[in-house]
Amino acid sequence: MRRRPLSTEGADLSSRRDKEDRATDSTRHVFGPVASGRLGLSLGLDLLGARICTFDCLYCEAGVTEALTTARKPYVPARRILGELADWKAAGHGLPDAVTLGGLGEPCLNTDCGEIIAGARELFPNVPVAVLTNSSLLSDPDVRSALSGADIVLPSMDTLVAAEYQRLNRPHQTLGLDAIRQGLLDFRGGFAGSIFLEILLVAGQNDSAENLGLLREFCRELAPTRVDVVTLSRPGAYPGAKAVAGDVLARFREALGAARPGPWAPSGDGHGPAGLLGDGAARAPRDPGLTDADLAARIAASVARRPQTAAGLATALGQPAPRIQSALDALLRTGAVRRERSGQDIFYSG
Ligand code: SF4
Repeated sequence: MRRRPLSTEGADLSSRRDKEDRATDSTRHVFGPVASGRLGLSLGLDLLGARICTFDCLYCEAGVTEALTTARKPYVPARRILGELADWKAAGHGLPDAVTLGGLGEPCLNTDCGEIIAGARELFPNVPVAVLTNSSLLSDPDVRSALSGADIVLPSMDTLVAAEYQRLNRPHQTLGLDAIRQGLLDFRGGFAGSIFLEILLVAGQNDSAENLGLLREFCRELAPTRVDVVTLSRPGAYPGAKAVAGDVLARFREALGAARPGPWAPSGDGHGPAGLLGDGAARAPRDPGLTDADLAARIAASVARRPQTAAGLATALGQPAPRIQSALDALLRTGAVRRERSGQDIFYSG
């Protein structure tokens, strides 16, 4: 498989993007809301601004990791994200169901994540603040302390079999599976909020009986608030990553006491406000005054972080489907978004 070389210079990449961003729209790091199966209408905060991650997962829907790193830095400073969030609030949009730290990579790499959690809580005192994480940095006490201010943490743990972990999550070479496992247990011990554990299954990669046995034991020990077992429902970074069959999914769900999937498509990336809600439309914020240019900018910012269908965008952004489709068609013509079929669905991505 031909791949772009990975950079370990996350800071350079981020700083280059930061300069580019300043020259464009002012809400590049606040995106959505995205309709999430676990969180409802989730307003996303991108703490990286580029594909900077500690993993390079086969299934990543953000695409191939550009900077594989464990270096923690203020990739996008708190003042910038909170400024954009304050602008979003001032614009009078309807309240989201959650404000979610995530984006194009691992949000805990951003050393300002604790400050961003505190700032989001202050701006939206009645909205839960959630954090998506691949769990890789929870062995660091500073990270555990920063995340302790969140209401909901959504860690992923796809496999506890070392060989599967290397093949599927393709981690930075310094990140051992035992330390990640223990870090998550340590975090659990000191966290007062909710933990929604996610396990994403990829056919032939982590659907082994050995993994199921280890995950069952781990779930008993961790006792998360909720477990979600999902598989790919959208295009991943690598074409070889395939969804598991329905019976495999059902076996893992039953054995792990997973939450029953709702009428929405289950989340499919292990690390993002994912999955399209069936019941989100009624609560979706309506922005009747949204101009075509603003709508196009919001769509472009949202699909750049997460591939979505036209129907999912209509639900999440509270706009009529024909208007969303027309904006998508215009963005397709300019090359700002691309379209890809996955099963019965057509996804748009940045
Ligand atoms: S799925 Fe999440 S953890 Fe994996 S490479 Fe993508 S952003 Fe990183």
